[in-house]
Amino acid sequence: MPRAASAPPPPFCPNPSCKYHRNPKGWRFKKKGFYEREARPRRIQRYRCPHCRRSFSSQTFSTTYWLRRPELLSTIFHRVLACSAYRQIASELDVSHTTVLGQAQRLGRHCLLFQERHGPKGPPKEPLALDGFRSFEAGQYWPFDANLLVGASHFVYGFNEAELRRSGTLTKGQRRKREKLEERHGRPDPQATRKAVEELVGRVVPGGSRAELWSDQHPAYPRALARLRGRRIQHSTVSSRQSRTARNPLFPVNLADLLLRHTGAHHKRETIAFSKRRQGAMYRLAIWQVWRNWLKWTSERRRERTPAQALGLVGRRLRVRDVLAERLFPSRLGLAPWVARCYAGAIPTRCLPQGRRFDAKLAF
Ligand SMILES: [Zn+2]
Repeated sequence: MPRAASAPPPPFCPNPSCKYHRNPKGWRFKKKGFYEREARPRRIQRYRCPHCRRSFSSQTFSTTYWLRRPELLSTIFHRVLACSAYRQIASELDVSHTTVLGQAQRLGRHCLLFQERHGPKGPPKEPLALDGFRSFEAGQYWPFDANLLVGASHFVYGFNEAELRRSGTLTKGQRRKREKLEERHGRPDPQATRKAVEELVGRVVPGGSRAELWSDQHPAYPRALARLRGRRIQHSTVSSRQSRTARNPLFPVNLADLLLRHTGAHHKRETIAFSKRRQGAMYRLAIWQVWRNWLKWTSERRRERTPAQALGLVGRRLRVRDVLAERLFPSRLGLAPWVARCYAGAIPTRCLPQGRRFDAKLAF
């Protein structure tokens, strides 16, 4: 009998309700035969936890668990950052676009957890720049902001989203259409930006700490910051008319905006590859964040270090295979409420029925 490719022994019980899930001290597992699958390695070792009696396998701890085409995961990681639309990726890889979509969502969830697991603990020790990156979901009538918080090192500390009402110069016909759509689906919360910025800054700058924050003169920002108690946030603003050079204190977030538009097909102007759902855009943003922080040089010209290296989080530039080396479990991380909602696929799109949610408890 050929031996199964040797996978490392399971590090903890994957069952979130087992006492050996978070703290595996003293845990033992039992080997329980093998199963065969189509992808390589074909023979997979099975195990059982004698404490909670759940069975699992060496695959349970892999980022490719349950995937029929595990070899595509890292290619899709690269392609979603190379301006490809899902159907273009699908035709290149000769798979259905739902396969690409499913794996992109898997990558988005993984990258949310990767940032939580490997990001800095405690408050940022550098000035932060905040901005809203404008995009839209399901059509031009449903714009939203992706709010980004970026450090002077170019490390992206976090993001979230705020639904917006379509504004700007509208023709009479467009106004009528907006009215009809809002009658049917309701209007975005006019406080959405204030609430989102409060959540984002509150998450990145924990209570009891201080931060230096730069932003443009958006009126919702001071209102959001005023509601954050127990933090000393020194907020300064820069006019959005000021030139966007490296000397501008908003340079890190301005550059992040450019990179985001440069790498994502769904953010191009006049594109037909726009996000169908804000949720999908958030998954892509999570992938982009990990790429920006751990994989991409801070400066492509100098190629000295990544933002994560600048913060001392890691000693070298990571590759996609490093990011995908181990599966992460949300139940072992303690996610902030917005991150947990995003992970679960629970961010709604007003004009579409709720999409499929992801239940981590069933995923092994
Ligand atoms: Zn167990």
